[in-house]
Amino acid sequence: MDKATIRDVEVQGKRVFVRVDFNVPIEDGRVVDDGRIRAALPTIEYLIRGGARLILASHLGRPKGRVDERYRLDPVARRLRELLGRPVHKVDAVVGPEVEQAVAGMGPGDVLLLENVRFEPGEEKNDPALARAWAGLADLYVNDAFGAAHRAHASTAGLAQFLPAVAGLLMERELTVLARALSHPEHPFAAVLGGAKVSDKIGVVARLLEKVDRLLIGGGMANTFLAARGYRMGSSSVEEDRLETARETLRAAEGRGTALLLPVDLVIADRFSADAQRRTVRVEAGVPEGWMALDIGPETVERFRAMLADAHTVIWNGPMGVFEMEPFAAGTLAVAQAMAGVKGTTIVGGGDSAAAVTKMGLAERMTHVSTGGGASLEFLEGRVLPGVAALLDREAVQR
Ligand code: ADP
Ligand code: MG
Repeated sequence: MDKATIRDVEVQGKRVFVRVDFNVPIEDGRVVDDGRIRAALPTIEYLIRGGARLILASHLGRPKGRVDERYRLDPVARRLRELLGRPVHKVDAVVGPEVEQAVAGMGPGDVLLLENVRFEPGEEKNDPALARAWAGLADLYVNDAFGAAHRAHASTAGLAQFLPAVAGLLMERELTVLARALSHPEHPFAAVLGGAKVSDKIGVVARLLEKVDRLLIGGGMANTFLAARGYRMGSSSVEEDRLETARETLRAAEGRGTALLLPVDLVIADRFSADAQRRTVRVEAGVPEGWMALDIGPETVERFRAMLADAHTVIWNGPMGVFEMEPFAAGTLAVAQAMAGVKGTTIVGGGDSAAAVTKMGLAERMTHVSTGGGASLEFLEGRVLPGVAALLDREAVQR
């Protein structure tokens, strides 16, 4: 990676402002999936061991620039204390005298957690006044929030204008794994794309089409491709305004000689519900009016499995069906299991896909499960992530 990381700079005794991504699901005051907190532990523990004073900052949810009791970080602080096995001082302010006082009282290895940065209107506006106020608290800025790196906010990008800025270890790993897969993939290279909509992912489809040998499309986005091929899709979600885009993609794949696989059969339901009536249909038969495709069918699963079995690099983004409902989770589960068996690099990007793999207990069997949904998508599209662009180049840092 060409960006400087915490390993390239001196941290001993330094006050370090660390932007983490602790945007985790919370129910009844408890963190129900601590994956993102765990993912930040290597950076936090590295800095503690190195004798830094840590000022941790994160957003949670979308409080829209004002205090919202539902989005306080206290449950996160509790979980972080348990995981670190050491005290974490949580303050109820994001910036200002209470925070300054807390920082002044810190010793080497101490950990402070600020309140939800999105309680401040300046955060999402990337207000330099807010960034400057935070910069006044610290000597070094570390961005470990890959999941927020596609946002140019005060805590994800703005701060880098006022402090030396380096990547944390999670940020480094995310960027390295994704970049290597795109620039030096081992072939056969396959991508599995699914999820709700074509419009969310058309940039990724286009870019991956230039790189992969096999492109497998399932989930809701396959509906639009199937409709573009002329199949009847009944009441399935089809984006009519993307039919031409889908046709262009199909032509492009043909032109390049890329194997582009669409579902050959579908699990359909008579309504969007776990207890709907269910059937499997072949795509040529079409989806009857009033019915909708909610998962890929068993024959499609077999074809996808065969395309993944001998792949050496697989990137997966987007579930194959409405996996949140058990009757429509089989396609997603099968892809996750097929990936778990791949001998090579397997990368899962996308918030819902990562949640699916975690829920299925297969996260450990992947090379990498990205903590960044939107950020991993934008990275795969080839876009510059503002939170990464703001960091110092490695060459610029002399130890
Ligand atoms: P990710 O977060 O992994 O990028 P998306 O957000 O694009 O994935 O899509 C995830 C959502 O797509 C899930 O909530 C899932 O229920 C939905 N989905 C998948 N297949 C279908 C389908 N055939 N019809 C409707 N929704 C679908
Ligand atoms: Mg999603």
